[in-house]
Amino acid sequence: MKQNRRDFLKAAGLAALGAGLVIGCGPKRKGTEEPAGEPVEEPVAEEPVQPAGPSRMQLDFEPYELQLQHTFTVSSYSRNTTPGVQVEVNYQGYTGYGEASMPPYLGQSVESVTAFLKKVNLKQFADPFCLDDILTYVDSLSPGDSAAKAAVDIALHDLVGKMLGAPWYRIWGYDPAKAPATTFTIGIDTPEVVREKTEECAGKFKILKVKVGLDTDKQMIETIRSATDVPLAVDANQGWTDRFKALDMIYWLRDHGVKMVEQPLPVDRVDDQAWLNERSPLPLFADESIQRLADVPRMKGLFSGINIKLMKCTGMREAHRMVEVARALDMQVMLGCMTETSCGISAAAQLSPAVDFADLDGNLLISNDLFTGVTVEDGRLVLPDRPGIGVVKL
Ligand SMILES: [Mg+2]
Repeated sequence: MKQNRRDFLKAAGLAALGAGLVIGCGPKRKGTEEPAGEPVEEPVAEEPVQPAGPSRMQLDFEPYELQLQHTFTVSSYSRNTTPGVQVEVNYQGYTGYGEASMPPYLGQSVESVTAFLKKVNLKQFADPFCLDDILTYVDSLSPGDSAAKAAVDIALHDLVGKMLGAPWYRIWGYDPAKAPATTFTIGIDTPEVVREKTEECAGKFKILKVKVGLDTDKQMIETIRSATDVPLAVDANQGWTDRFKALDMIYWLRDHGVKMVEQPLPVDRVDDQAWLNERSPLPLFADESIQRLADVPRMKGLFSGINIKLMKCTGMREAHRMVEVARALDMQVMLGCMTETSCGISAAAQLSPAVDFADLDGNLLISNDLFTGVTVEDGRLVLPDRPGIGVVKL
């Protein structure tokens, strides 16, 4: 659905009229109703939209277990399912979708997420457009609960985007044609399985991500290289412990077509990480070392870039700010994910035109997706031309 500026303003104006509100959170000030220099059609001539749903935001949620297509192994664990919670915010006939995905290492569970969501009272807010106030309130309810907060954040962004009639990449000003290729992750497994998985996906993706961090790293890479020569990204998940060996390994990886390395050393090895970053021939990306906006400046000098994940950083609003801060610090950015439905992945993908690497394959790893949204064509992310986060429920 293409919209020009006039349609966009009209849709926004109508949505606000339907809510009995003006756009903006404070009282309407004199002389600020219209942008200077450009006449805007008065929407009052139109019939007000009759609210079809609740007149205050209604938050609903339910647990939903994600089934993985293959057993997933990284350096510290293996699993077949990921617990999740699906969220909806209904308001005046619009539905915003969100989700929380809670892999075990995040320290959040169905119980913790639902307990958090029960505390969230969106009905106290009259205007969904006041995302800053609403999400500051949501964040203030507890110090952690990042996935639960992300679920609310995503649903509100979806709702507001739908009310404006525009996808978030457009609201943020990004060119969807700049959406990058996404990596597809190959987990740690036997050489036979790794070879089979590589052959299965090498033709579909322009870059593969390989989980390393065990004694079998070189064997993993050699097995993949026996099947394909596509560029690789590797994620050590803190699995290397000796900085000298790590540096040797990075040189070896570079000579085997690897383009970047994620989280080579344990989080607490700050001095070793700075040492490694100074010498590494490949860009190093922080994942476990970073969670939220306030962590970004600390990463300067330790890594070349950061991996932003909605489930860690509380959602789209903070993720967008993290991109801006990382760029201001002259750092690279990648977007990562958990195993998620196309809801969480499409939300993250709204930011993808602004990043260097996208690792948004979480929806491709599950067998029970609930949505269709962002797709992958010829290895690249294709952002849907639909408002909000662009998903349709299956
Ligand atoms: Mg990682």
